[in-house]
Amino acid sequence: MNAIIDPVRRQVSDLHQELVRYGLVVWTAGNVSARVPGEDLLVIKPSGVSYEELTPQNMIVCDLDGNVVEGEHAPSSDTAAHAYVYRHLPEVGGVVHTHSTYACAWAARGEAVPCVLTAMADEFGAEIPVGPFALIGDDSIGRGVVDTLKGHRSPAVLMQNHGVFTIGKDARAAVKAAVMCEDVARTVHLSRQLGEPLPIAQADIDSLNFRYQNVYGQPQAQ
Ligand SMILES: [Zn+2]
Repeated sequence: MNAIIDPVRRQVSDLHQELVRYGLVVWTAGNVSARVPGEDLLVIKPSGVSYEELTPQNMIVCDLDGNVVEGEHAPSSDTAAHAYVYRHLPEVGGVVHTHSTYACAWAARGEAVPCVLTAMADEFGAEIPVGPFALIGDDSIGRGVVDTLKGHRSPAVLMQNHGVFTIGKDARAAVKAAVMCEDVARTVHLSRQLGEPLPIAQADIDSLNFRYQNVYGQPQAQ
C-alpha cells in the first residue's frame, strides 16, 4: 500500500510549494489534495501546519468520507469539501482550494469572471462561475462546488464570499487551474479599470478551448 500512497504524499507536499511560489496563499489558508489511484483514499494537507513545515510524511491520508486513515495531525478543515468532490466526481484526481486575492475579490462580489481572454478560453472554456455562499462544517461547500462545476467546462469555481476551488484529472492540473484562475481574475480586473472588456464570440471560445484541450493541452477533468 505504501508503494501507492508514498508518491501521492510526495506530490501533494511538493504542490503546496507551488501555491506559495505563485502567491496564492497567506499563512496556512489554502490546500491541495489528490486521490490515491485505485483506492477510496485521498491525501491532503494537515490543518494549521505552515507551508515550510510540510513534508511527505506529515500529509494526511483520509477515506472519501474525510475520516483520517493515516496521520498524526488533524486534516485540513476543508477535507469534507475535498472528499465530497471525490465522491461525486469520479474523474477528478486532484482538488485545490485557495483564497487568492483577485479571485476572492470577484467572489466577494459574487460575480463570475467573464471569458474575455484567449488564455481563459483555452484553460476554462467559459466564464469562471460563482458557487453558492456556504458555511464550513457540513457538505454544503462540497455540494456547491460539485453542483456548479458538474457539466461546466471551467475547472474553477468562485465560492461566493469565500474563495476558489479547482479540480483536475490530477492534483497538478488542479494547481495549474488555481494559478491560471488568479492570473485571469487579476487581468480581467485590471481591464475593467480601463473600460469594458470586449467579449469573445462563443464560437471562438469553443474553438480555442477544443484546440487547447485536445491538441496542445492535457484534457481537463470536467
Ligand atoms: Zn477557504
